[in-house]
Amino acid sequence: MEGKTMFVEIQKQVGAAHFVLPVEAVKDSKSLPVVVHPDKVAVQSGKGESVYRFPDGFRVRPKSCSGLKWLEGDGLHLRLSVVEEEAEEQKEKEEDGRGEENGPDIKPGHTRMCCAMCGHQLLKPSFCAKRVLPLPSDGWQEAVAHSFCHKSQDTQNMAAQTLAPRPADILTGTGHVLVHAKAIHSDNVDVVDSEDKMVLVPLVRCKRCRSQVGIGVTTGKKKTPAQATPEPPCAIKLYLSNITVHEEGSTCSPVTPGHASPGQDSVLAQQLLKESESQYCLRFVVQDLRADVYLLMWLLKSETRLMTISTQGSVSSRDILKILYLPLPRDGVNKLLLESWKKDENVGLLSYPRDTCLHLVSHLVSHTQSLPVSLRSMNNFMVGFLTLKNNPESKTT
Ligand SMILES: [Zn+2]
Ligand SMILES: [Zn+2]
Repeated sequence: MEGKTMFVEIQKQVGAAHFVLPVEAVKDSKSLPVVVHPDKVAVQSGKGESVYRFPDGFRVRPKSCSGLKWLEGDGLHLRLSVVEEEAEEQKEKEEDGRGEENGPDIKPGHTRMCCAMCGHQLLKPSFCAKRVLPLPSDGWQEAVAHSFCHKSQDTQNMAAQTLAPRPADILTGTGHVLVHAKAIHSDNVDVVDSEDKMVLVPLVRCKRCRSQVGIGVTTGKKKTPAQATPEPPCAIKLYLSNITVHEEGSTCSPVTPGHASPGQDSVLAQQLLKESESQYCLRFVVQDLRADVYLLMWLLKSETRLMTISTQGSVSSRDILKILYLPLPRDGVNKLLLESWKKDENVGLLSYPRDTCLHLVSHLVSHTQSLPVSLRSMNNFMVGFLTLKNNPESKTT
């Protein structure tokens, strides 16, 4: 039984935990070879006893066992009521770190923004932000249109226009920042029309690694039919998932290509939570810039912690945003569901560059694979997650 691990999913708000124990099928035995103690679980087998000790502050309430079942491939499932006392210092750290988790804290001054893939600098070295202003939530244009009973020319103009940053502005939105086109380092960044005719916005790419870091934004003024060449973008929208933001003096370092760093993981998760708040919904259709759908996603905003405990006493623990999802809903039942979600006003729409969509899908799938087999799907949806926070590894003795 050496090297086996126990999986624990904790619902922090309700104090309940789902345990999956690596227990082989019980044959010809009336009693279960498992003993639950307040501070550990002991599993008997022919080869001896394996003990899984809980980390400090984590206890099981006596006589709270339910949902006992044995499943092929997983082992023994059971639910227990638990008490989790977060260490005092841990709590303080969490409060300190809160600003950081809500995306980068951008201050006026010499801010640098870099390609997350390769670290190439995206803003002019001379760029100095005089103002950093929050953008209204993404639905603001509609909100403006709805909040006036008669449609005056003014309000219509207001709703039609894109908020344009001044040359020394950084406008911060949900999951992106908006900077003036002149702030962009044109030696390092390409702003090009997509070869794909379905994509109507110019794409902003890092010249070194070709990764798409954003899109160009035009003023939104009506085009005259005679206007042959599209107007150049006045502002550049940079996706926070594809860039890193640095204060003066710090250096740009790339994140591991192909897979987001744990930091990027939580940036994505925080973005989704913010979108959920600003669009008032838990369900989302995720599409790329040419409106190809990659994902149907349902956020479960319960505070969830995943923990694995090995018989050697190592405990790894992370706080997650649990997500039910359907990747590539392009045929059959999934396509029907997509059609009904598209008509549902309680479902939000997220448009990301193709790379970000693919990254999100592959990321969710790989996290799904890390769960016990029977917990990987729920009501025809796949169960995945994004890591909000990795808790420090601990060792129990
Ligand atoms: Zn790059
Ligand atoms: Zn991840």
